Amino acid sequence: MTNRFSDASTPPGDFVDRVAAARRPVLLTHIYPDGDAIGSQLALARALASQGAEPRILIAHPAPLLQEFMDPEGVVVVASEEHAVEALATSDLCLILDTSDYARLGRLERAARESNVLKYCIDHHLCVDPTAFDALWSDPSCPATGLLVLSLLDTLGIRITAEIAEPLFIAVATDTGWFRFSNATALVFESASRLVSAGADPAYLHRALFENSSLGRTQMLGEMLSSLSSQAGGRLVYSVVRQTQLGRFGIPLEEIDGFIDHLKEVRGAEILILFVEVSSGRYKVSLRSKGRRDVHAMASQFGGGGHAKAAGFRIEGSHDDVVSRVVSAALEVLQ
Ligand code: AMP
Ligand code: MN
Ligand code: MN
Repeated sequence: MTNRFSDASTPPGDFVDRVAAARRPVLLTHIYPDGDAIGSQLALARALASQGAEPRILIAHPAPLLQEFMDPEGVVVVASEEHAVEALATSDLCLILDTSDYARLGRLERAARESNVLKYCIDHHLCVDPTAFDALWSDPSCPATGLLVLSLLDTLGIRITAEIAEPLFIAVATDTGWFRFSNATALVFESASRLVSAGADPAYLHRALFENSSLGRTQMLGEMLSSLSSQAGGRLVYSVVRQTQLGRFGIPLEEIDGFIDHLKEVRGAEILILFVEVSSGRYKVSLRSKGRRDVHAMASQFGGGGHAKAAGFRIEGSHDDVVSRVVSAALEVLQ
């Protein structure tokens, strides 16, 4: 079976040849890497290593929970800009996964932009600037970058071992909300079935991801939920996580991932917003749509991006100012 979500779900021919020929590829992904980001990197790196290449995986922010159990060998490196410059200088291919926006590479952005190495991108977000890469393989209809990686590995004729199946399963499971979201199509289940047959253990992986929260994180989640606000008769639900709270519960920003999914539990809510104060006066805003509203368009207004049902952006300002600007924009969308 091949993974075809659209015509764009199979890699272009030159793309495949170039990836197969790379000896020292460097794999990059977006800031605050999630399971699809790191899962796609690890699966592709393991597959290319099995063919004799020496891939290197760099990330801009640590993802301790994911790294600890997905990467026991410590292959994934949280890199400084200098480290990325050095790695790219000795590389024959830079592969950018799960984002097609250089700005989303965070502190590795400049190193990637300014490197002379060939830059290939594999992604499933709407791409704002397709000319920014030497080759772009983008399929916004594909539920997870991990499925594009699976399709690439199939095209390359690389056998899916348990070591490759596990990170791919995490990639797909993450971006489909553990197979609950509307992007969990029959093809997703077919691919997941293949990955389980190849050795991925869903129960073990679910435990590792969702029964592994620090006490502080779960307490912070409780506080976030108890302080949520609603507007437009409950069709808009939002909450804010402040720096002071993160400090009080002793949890790093990386651990907030997944909080917004709990806002979706509220009946009648159509648009969900989570504001996370990443540093004084700077906010990371996550948007989700439970209904027919397109939150990607809303994120774009603020210079962000994502998908129709899950999007985000960064914004600066005082707490009250940021919340009121974003809430007004959401109310407009709900009109
Ligand atoms: P998150 O809320 O961080 O889980 O992100 C949801 C979706 O929005 C993901 O697909 C991200 O790629 C996208 N996204 C989040 N923040 C940004 C941003 N600052 N710029 C562009 N896309 C973003
Ligand atoms: Mn991602
Ligand atoms: Mn993704």
